[in-house]
Amino acid sequence: MSFTQFDFHPMITAGVQACNYETPTPIQEKAIPAILNGRDILGLAQTGTGKTAAFVLPILQRLLNGPRGKVRTLIVAPTRELAEQIHTDITKLGRHTGIKSVSIYGGVSKLPQIKKLKEGVDIVVACPGRLLDHLSDKTFNLAKVEHLVLDEADHMFDMGFLPVIRRILKALPSERQTLLFSATMPAEIRHLAEEILNNPVRVQIAHSQPTASVSQVLFSVEQDRKTSLLRNIMANTEMAATLIFTRTKYRALSLARHLEKAGYAATSLQGNLSQQKRQKALNGFKCGEFKILVATDIAARGIDVSGISHVINYDVPDTVEAFTHRIGRTGRASRTGEAFTFASRDDRKIISMIEQSMGKKMSRGTNLNLPTETSDIIAIDERPARKATTWQNKPKKKVNPTERGNGRPASRNASPRVAEKQEQTPARHSKPGNRQKRRNRAATMDSGAGKLFLNT
Ligand code: AMP
Repeated sequence: MSFTQFDFHPMITAGVQACNYETPTPIQEKAIPAILNGRDILGLAQTGTGKTAAFVLPILQRLLNGPRGKVRTLIVAPTRELAEQIHTDITKLGRHTGIKSVSIYGGVSKLPQIKKLKEGVDIVVACPGRLLDHLSDKTFNLAKVEHLVLDEADHMFDMGFLPVIRRILKALPSERQTLLFSATMPAEIRHLAEEILNNPVRVQIAHSQPTASVSQVLFSVEQDRKTSLLRNIMANTEMAATLIFTRTKYRALSLARHLEKAGYAATSLQGNLSQQKRQKALNGFKCGEFKILVATDIAARGIDVSGISHVINYDVPDTVEAFTHRIGRTGRASRTGEAFTFASRDDRKIISMIEQSMGKKMSRGTNLNLPTETSDIIAIDERPARKATTWQNKPKKKVNPTERGNGRPASRNASPRVAEKQEQTPARHSKPGNRQKRRNRAATMDSGAGKLFLNT
């Protein structure tokens, strides 16, 4: 099967060729003809399946006819990284069409966004909060929208965006094509889909299953040996771009710093960074300046970096969905990838839920001959001791939630759900007594490396 079956305009075919897409992915095969026919879509698909091109290509084709410079397509996405990614894909795939797109999200100045909107665009890719701001400011309106895409609808719900989405829906013409994509289908999203989709074509791709092209290994390891294990794996495995997930922002930062000091080209992506620094980290990872990116779930959402060879779950996430999304960062578009998951005693329940949902067990990691020295055994999860407040270390200003990567203004940040909680969860085992005990234990655990791994 090839892209010729869709009868795309040569300008769009040229974009597909420029992206080196040869064969449509399963979601593209199913969704593109239906979207070209004007049908609504309920797409149950995770990232990494080619879902962006599945809606961008037919929308570009439909936009070729009709007026230019008016907002005829609105794409709503939960995070600025995802919005930016979709905008980049539109620019690449539509490079020969003259169709213009703009990305709109919080944490950056509104002025360049307003300028682009005033110059005239055909597609707006937006995060809900900033979009609502622009609509309230009457920067532009949605009266001419013909196509609405809600991408990663379950994440928008997780992040408490549903009320904002409903307000945006009121500003849209009722006569339109609506495409809703979600990796999972919680009741609230099902209700929303029933309300806003008109006799939709249902396209379901590997619901909540990590991509088959990713091989997975589970290591059983206690928290205070994770860094040692990580260093060992890295020294013994050929890795290209590697994405490491931690539970907290603090741990992402500390681990990236530790790896950097150890000579690795590593950086972190977590919600405490300014938009400029986030972009720098992401661009550096994309272009290969950084081989390792240590990130929290919320910061890493929607990241599309091709060629991620390894995903490492330094900490196991709290939900099966988050796990699926993490693993989906590698093995994208049928490439192969490897995922390593570090599970401590406390993670047994969630690991069993993950394996149940995948319908198979991960391979168990074996003894990698961890170094017997204790020098690199670092309890990364420890927060620094609290300092007395002096004029030099005054408490920092409270972080504005718009800078936390969810693109949402502070006033609408009232109902953060699971995803944000993970970033904010205080590190476990942070009591000074435990810390000291652990140091003592680490210092005496020399040749006990074999105990770190389950070999079931
Ligand atoms: P997505 O699920 O939209 O995030 O896409 C995942 C990755 O697959 C992106 O890097 C796309 O550029 C790539 N991709 C999408 N469609 C195709 C295709 N037909 N052939 C090869 N790569 C693709």
